[in-house]
Amino acid sequence: MMILYDGIIVTMDSERNIYKNAALVIEENKIKQIGDKDTILEKYKDSGISKISCKGKAIFPGFVNTHIHTAQSIVRGVAEDLGRAPSYTALVPQGDDLTQEESYVFSLLGAATALRFGSTLIGDNYAHSMTNARAFETLGIRAVVSERVHDMVFGKLASGVYEKDETLGNELFEKNMELFEKYPDKNGLINPCLGPHAPDTCSKELLLRIADMAQKYEVPITTHLAQSQQELDRVKEVYGVSSTKLMQECGLLNDRLLAAHGVFLKETDICELGKAGGNIVHIPEGNAKAGAIADIKKIKEKGINVTIATDNGAANMIENMRMALAAGRIRNHCVVEPKPEEILTMATLNGAKALHMEEKLGSLEEGKLADIVIIDYDNLHMTPCTNVVGNLVHLGLGNDVETVIVDGKIVVDQGKVLAIEEKEVMRDARRIAELKWLKSNPDLEKKWMYIF
Ligand SMILES: [Zn+2]
Repeated sequence: MMILYDGIIVTMDSERNIYKNAALVIEENKIKQIGDKDTILEKYKDSGISKISCKGKAIFPGFVNTHIHTAQSIVRGVAEDLGRAPSYTALVPQGDDLTQEESYVFSLLGAATALRFGSTLIGDNYAHSMTNARAFETLGIRAVVSERVHDMVFGKLASGVYEKDETLGNELFEKNMELFEKYPDKNGLINPCLGPHAPDTCSKELLLRIADMAQKYEVPITTHLAQSQQELDRVKEVYGVSSTKLMQECGLLNDRLLAAHGVFLKETDICELGKAGGNIVHIPEGNAKAGAIADIKKIKEKGINVTIATDNGAANMIENMRMALAAGRIRNHCVVEPKPEEILTMATLNGAKALHMEEKLGSLEEGKLADIVIIDYDNLHMTPCTNVVGNLVHLGLGNDVETVIVDGKIVVDQGKVLAIEEKEVMRDARRIAELKWLKSNPDLEKKWMYIF
């Protein structure tokens, strides 16, 4: 058991209660009680249970980061300037360029970064999913995991060539299904889901197979939708419809779909997605860096549940919340909407809802799983604090995350990820990155002088 006391508790419950002078009791992996600090401390005063003072700090539900490719952390710092998603780009290391063990290192790196910045749950989709899941188990982060399933050859996409490889599709589909055998318990830390990469990189036959499995297992389906004009043009050319319509025809447009990006959705697509109860995963930082942003206001108006995720990059949910707020205000031509509270809802409760986990996660309430972040407000940039949520979204930094608790266990303490030697993971990642980057792009040293 563990008691957190003296911090401001931002519950994100249905009334959005925020408590001062309260305490939160964790028993095993659940929140047992939230109540008056003095009463709770008195009740447990003679027990040996750990009591953690959170003075100068605020206690939030863990961030639900619904879309990430942790092993793709190998392309950090360069992919952001390529103008397209790494999978559609030549001369960058791809998932299938990595061995299992190399993927393990980059999954550790990417997921540890996400965890350190307050993501208690990640929705990870990438090659070598079984190995990546092993990295998440090592870290103790909650994860919804899928294989990146496609039957178009990625190496040719950069030149606009779509070459189908049925064997590749079968292989990746089987790898995705193996997760269900390894992790049958839907209540564990690792939860399998299905990961069709995108409507243009999966053939219709493959999408139909995935839809069958989604129905059988009743699990989330994570994909990229309306991410680029290339995707839209390709689907239109082959099937004569929009990407969203294709997903609908394949039986994938439903309330278990987590469609990342949605930047190029047309009004009719948004309506269909809304009617189907689908979810849009907003990637504000990645999209803004690529020069376009989804119309979240319109998407929400059609009743679509919107979550926030980091995709690639530094996996920093606080930074992405701020980007969602800023990008939303630019797009809306509005100086005050969206508000920080709406953005925090997207980063917590809405993520849990999209994954059908809202009964267990997304807010701090008695009986829910103890996935919690403790943010330090006792620093220059957060002073003074008159609106705890406003300060977090407008001013917070990833490094302000001091403690992270997943499933009732402390996994980040004083900003350090406990399960790994961070320096060792960084050393391994640098070594592999140098080899892979030079292999995929032999001219690299002429362009970027420093690899360290
Ligand atoms: Zn993605």
